[in-house]
Amino acid sequence: MTIFAKIIRREIKAEIIYEDDLCLAFKDVHPQAPTHVLLIPKKEIASLAELQSSDAALMGHLMVKASEIAKNLGIAEEGYRLVANTRAFGGQTVNHLHFHILGGRPLSWPPG
Ligand code: 5GP
Repeated sequence: MTIFAKIIRREIKAEIIYEDDLCLAFKDVHPQAPTHVLLIPKKEIASLAELQSSDAALMGHLMVKASEIAKNLGIAEEGYRLVANTRAFGGQTVNHLHFHILGGRPLSWPPG
């Protein structure tokens, strides 16, 4: 079981900022920007690479929630970044699909 599955089950503490039947959003424990939130589906999907067409509605829900959460966190007006590191070359370290919502400072491009 991944650390994020344990956060969903409340076996590990996290600063949760949004939850519904399908997803959970909580603050990243090692923030890389003034605002750094992780948004995850409750369904255990390892990464974007494992998505199936039956996940389309769930992923649509996550995108809409990411937009709402960014607005509620006050980072939408200036802008932010939504990132899904995927598998080894993508820099993924937790094998439960997640989106980083990063904002509160200008973010450089390209990434490392
Ligand atoms: P990845 O590298 O897989 O894209 O991102 C995993 C993220 O999860 C990292 O930014 C890391 O700081 C965060 N993280 C890892 N363990 C925990 C934890 O126990 N609690 C919280 N809130 N974040 C975690």
